[in-house]
Amino acid sequence: MNSETVITAENIIKTYKNLKAVDDLSFFVNKSECFGILGPNGAGKTTMMKMLYGKALRDKDSGRINVFGYDPKNNELEIKYLSGIVPQDNNLDDELSVIQNLLIYAKFYGLDCKKSLDRIYELLEFMELSGKKNAKIMHLSGGMKRRLTFVRSLLNNPKLLILDEPTTGLDPQVRHNIWDKIRLLKKDGVTIIITTHYMEEAYQLCDRLILMHKGKKILEGNPVELVNQNIEKYVLEILNHTLFDKIKISKNINIDRTPNRMYLYSQDLKSLEQLSKGLKPGDYYLRQSNLEDLFLKSTGRILNE
Ligand code: ADP
Repeated sequence: MNSETVITAENIIKTYKNLKAVDDLSFFVNKSECFGILGPNGAGKTTMMKMLYGKALRDKDSGRINVFGYDPKNNELEIKYLSGIVPQDNNLDDELSVIQNLLIYAKFYGLDCKKSLDRIYELLEFMELSGKKNAKIMHLSGGMKRRLTFVRSLLNNPKLLILDEPTTGLDPQVRHNIWDKIRLLKKDGVTIIITTHYMEEAYQLCDRLILMHKGKKILEGNPVELVNQNIEKYVLEILNHTLFDKIKISKNINIDRTPNRMYLYSQDLKSLEQLSKGLKPGDYYLRQSNLEDLFLKSTGRILNE
C-alpha cells in the first residue's frame, strides 16, 4: 500500500443464502497499476467487483471498502463519476445506434453536446470503431460490442477503470487488440482493476494480482514473481492417461495430477527432456510453468475446468 492507494478492501464477506461468495477478502490497488483478480468461474470475482461500485453492497455482510476515499455504500455516484466500468454483460441498447448509446451516457456525466461528440469520435477512433458510428447495436459483432462498451467506459476520462472479464468469449485477435488498448490506458496513468479467468490475460497485463478460489484469496503478488517463487521452473505435461503409471519419476521431480493430465515439475529442464524422449509427440507437452500450475498446486484444481 502507498500514499496513493486508490482502492482498499478489508475483510469483505458477502453471502448469498448459504453460500459465501466472498470470504474475508482483503486487497489494495495503487494508483496507475493494473491489479488483477484471477480465479475460475464462481470464485467470487464479479461479486467483489460489483461491491466496489455499489451494486452488491446493500447486502454486504461485513468489511470495509474505500474507493478514492469514498465508501461505495454511501457514495456510489461519486465513485462512478471518477470511474469507467466495463461490466460482464455489455448492457447496450440494441435498438439504438452506436452514437445514440454513447450520447445517453455522456448526458449522465453532464457533458454538453459538442464536447460529447468530440470525445465520442476520439474514442471511437481509439477503439477502431469509427466506421460503425451509425450502426445499430444489433448489427455489431461480439468484439465490436465489447470495444464499444470500452468506449462508453472512457467517456468521462476515468481515473479508475473497472473491467469485469473484459475479453471472455472473444476470439484471440480481438482479445489481443483489447489488451493493447488496456496497456495504452495504463501508460496514460489510468488505474485498472480487472477480473479474469484467463491466466494469460492476468499474466500479460497485471502488475499485481490475487488468485481467488471459493471466495477466498489464495495467493497475492506480481505474477512473474509468484510463479518464480512458488513453483519449479519447468513442467512436462503427460496428456495420455495410459502412460501415468509407466513414467519413472526421479527425485528432483514433483507431481500433480488431474483426471486427464499428469504434471511433472522440475527446476532441471534436462531431466524432463530426458523423460520426454521416450514419449510420442502428442502424448506430452514440455513448457515453462505458469499461473495455472500455481493454481493447481494451491487448490488441486485447474483454472478453467
Ligand atoms: P465469478 O465472477 O468468479 O465467476 P461470482 O461472483 O459471479 O463469481 O459468483 C460467486 C458465487 O456466488 C457463485 O457460486 C455464484 O453462483 C454465486 N452468486 C453470484 N451472484 C448470485 C446471486 N445474485 N444470488 C445467488 N448466488 C449468486
